[in-house]
Amino acid sequence: MSTRSVYQDVQKRFHRAADLAKIDSSMRAILASNTNEIVVHFPVRMDDGRIEMFTGYRVQHNDARGPFKGGLRFHPEVELDEVRSLAAWMTWKTAVVDIPFGGAKGGIQIDPSKYSQSELERITRRFTFALGDNIGPDYDIPAPDVNTNARVMAWILDTYLQTRAPGARHNCTHVVTGKPVDLGGSLGRDKATGQGVVWTLEAWAKERGFNLAKMTFTVQGYGNVGSWSARLLAGYGSKMVAAEDHTGSIANPAGIDCEALAAYVRVKGGVAGYEGAKAITHLEFMAAQTDIFIPAALHNQITLETALLIKAKVVAEGANGPTDIEGEAILLERGIDVIPDVLCNSGGVAVSFFEWLQGKHDQMWSLEQVDGELHKKIFKAYEDVRLVAEELKTDRRMAAYVLAIRRLQRVYEQRGIFP
Ligand code: NAD
Repeated sequence: MSTRSVYQDVQKRFHRAADLAKIDSSMRAILASNTNEIVVHFPVRMDDGRIEMFTGYRVQHNDARGPFKGGLRFHPEVELDEVRSLAAWMTWKTAVVDIPFGGAKGGIQIDPSKYSQSELERITRRFTFALGDNIGPDYDIPAPDVNTNARVMAWILDTYLQTRAPGARHNCTHVVTGKPVDLGGSLGRDKATGQGVVWTLEAWAKERGFNLAKMTFTVQGYGNVGSWSARLLAGYGSKMVAAEDHTGSIANPAGIDCEALAAYVRVKGGVAGYEGAKAITHLEFMAAQTDIFIPAALHNQITLETALLIKAKVVAEGANGPTDIEGEAILLERGIDVIPDVLCNSGGVAVSFFEWLQGKHDQMWSLEQVDGELHKKIFKAYEDVRLVAEELKTDRRMAAYVLAIRRLQRVYEQRGIFP
């Protein structure tokens, strides 16, 4: 893993894209900055009666195109620079997939496996209380990310509602997305990010003349994004030959049953020990013979050290920031395509937007409607990025960034800067 701050990569990539987009220095200064950076320290009572202090973050990068939007992550490595990076990526992502949201991200520096469910609930609720009016249904809307899920969103929603005046609690359920369907969540949100990943792969395969049914794939991270991507890709007839998560790496060149592995992970908490495959090392996993590699875990996994090992034809970035700058240069030099995170995993935030709309208008869309709208968004975004890449003769990531920057620039040009 690279030791350089992921935020330095974010800034470098932004400035490279800003050069390509030929934006002026004022626009560049605005987009290189975060609007708000909120750090909160808060006490929570543990099950044994002790009080522990926690640190939580919410970085709001830009809201020129709409309310701040982005996930909340529970992980021991969450720190300000990581959250800043994730927030900026959200701004580019919402612009690429063309939904009227800005970009934000947050998290708590915590290893959730060390806490009971009731402790996690109190930590989540106290964090939500500490954020106060820094989130809101028309201001900043959190969603699930690493180690957070629909249940965590339900706790946030309930805490937010309980801290409003009784008369102000109506029509507030869209303060979070990715919540349980019974509380106003959207059908199809759970699989949305993975669905977007496989649709970008479908578009890529069509562009490149490949048949997904004849292709093999590997997945790093078998949580929400990884497991859904795998299960949906298996539906095309593609074969998963290796998988990895925080518990270990496994492989079976004859194919791994994606559904059975998902069921196993739900019970055991990870892929290690799955009987339908043999254990391999992390480096063997990175070097596995495969057509498609889907990183769907954490950032900076494909680096100077590991990019040379990868044998895939394409890297589909389910995770945010899995490929660092040097890693990407090596992949591209070796002719390996990269479907960048801000395009590849944008299905999640697109369906979050649909969920938000449903909440705002007291509607419930059918799964067919959600999938139909998502399908349009993903294929349009893929084509928009492809066209910019062709126009500027650049790679897909730079094309996606330029597309986002141009869309943001148009908003600033028409609105101007207050006062
Ligand atoms: P998750 O918590 O459901 O799953 C995370 C997975 O990563 C788990 O399988 C975990 O074991 C694995 N992991 C953690 N550390 C690892 C390590 N060192 N090596 C290998 N695997 C490791 O989280 P998720 O929601 O699936 O998010 C995964 C990635 O996708 C993150 O980068 C997240 O920002 C991104 N993402 C998520 C969404 C979403 O809708 N959930 C949307 C867009 C992007």
